[in-house]
Amino acid sequence: MKNQYSKGMKNFKRIIFAAGLSFISQTSLFAQDNAMFDVMDDKSKFVLNEQIINGSSKYINKKGDEVKSNPIYKLSLDERVKKGITSVVKSNPKLSNKNQTSTTFTVTFLDVANATGYGFDDPTAGATRRATIEQAVAYYANIITNTGSADIEIQESENISGYALAWGGQYYFSTPGFQNGTVWRHIITGVDPSSTLADGLVTYNFYYTFNDDYNRLPTSSEYDLYTVSIHELGHAFGFTSMSNSDGSSQISSGVYSSYDEYLQSDNYSDLFTTTGGQNSAATFSSSSSELATDGVVFDFGNGSYGAVYSPNPFNSSSLDHFDSNRLTDGTKYLMHPSLSKGVVVREMHEQEAKVLEQIGYSINFNNISTSTVNNHISNANNVAMFPNPIVTGNNLNLIVTTEKEQNITTVIYDVLGNVIYKQNNLVSQSSPSVQLPINNSIASGTYFVQVQGDVVSQKQMLIIE
Ligand SMILES: [Zn+2]
Repeated sequence: MKNQYSKGMKNFKRIIFAAGLSFISQTSLFAQDNAMFDVMDDKSKFVLNEQIINGSSKYINKKGDEVKSNPIYKLSLDERVKKGITSVVKSNPKLSNKNQTSTTFTVTFLDVANATGYGFDDPTAGATRRATIEQAVAYYANIITNTGSADIEIQESENISGYALAWGGQYYFSTPGFQNGTVWRHIITGVDPSSTLADGLVTYNFYYTFNDDYNRLPTSSEYDLYTVSIHELGHAFGFTSMSNSDGSSQISSGVYSSYDEYLQSDNYSDLFTTTGGQNSAATFSSSSSELATDGVVFDFGNGSYGAVYSPNPFNSSSLDHFDSNRLTDGTKYLMHPSLSKGVVVREMHEQEAKVLEQIGYSINFNNISTSTVNNHISNANNVAMFPNPIVTGNNLNLIVTTEKEQNITTVIYDVLGNVIYKQNNLVSQSSPSVQLPINNSIASGTYFVQVQGDVVSQKQMLIIE
């Protein structure tokens, strides 16, 4: 009964891209300071077939290559933590719901393990970059309440001109049906699908200049490392399609992702279906033209839909992303396929959190911003807020980047929408700083800070400890 909803219920518009673009020319679709987040067109390396060779179990990927465990995993977790190669990340215990359960993550930096001296092992920037990745993983630990674990591997950093900012994913087994990957399995079932391999992989391309530091905003010449990180981790959690441009599977006949199960065409018919139960082959039940109409949606099952990136012609970012250009309410998707310098999107859109929920994660929506102005800003008019998290008894600092003098009102809300604190200030280019006292009487938890001025409007999450 998925076709019962009227088209008018979609809160986004259709757009048509004029030019025909392959991946190589795809970057030309965007302004010069706009880089692709990732390339997801080589998923064959993420497909595992377990084979017994000479009496021992091996993982062979779709390309026919053996996926080998990094020797670093021969060390125990404790030893890796002691050497600074692996960090353990859990949810912030001071979040509003103190009884909230959470996933435990390990984050292993191969730059450090292999002493590359580059990327996350850079002698000056490495520590700041690692802290920002840990913050990005903590973002998911704060919203996912399943009690399993996931092992994230930050692979050796790259330095490739003209390529994507970063790329990420998880391993899938090539069993027929709508498959969940290794991050999902480890988090939901609590059982490590492969003790010798990480569950999720992310690679960064430090050819680009990043804002390495989570505690400040990017300048107009930097890409925000935190934004890129929560985007790539989104792919690793399951925000990915297995479809080729003709609807065939990128990984194996009959095998699609659990995300694909909820994709629908412009006229609300399922793109991929199964006839039987779990582990029965999934098939493409639409036409390839439907994948490139700017009309593909993700079905939340209650008459609401996410706007899936589906330009004409199909490109390597198609279906794996949501399309901010199809939103008309001023919000932005984290999972949009490209990012501009100086721009941050530091949390999931509520719809994107619903995607994670739909594919099986338990999500604490108290920690998801539902404002129509979610946490996205550009460097023209923005508000830097620090420190975050903040300990009570300290001042919260705002720096408002503004070209004109303006009155701003800053309101701190709790998760129920109650006003906790309000303050008015006049800010200008020469006087951009605002301080807000975070009183000792404010309880630990999650809050939202709304800054509203003539040309500034921003809401962001604040954790008070
Ligand atoms: Zn992406």
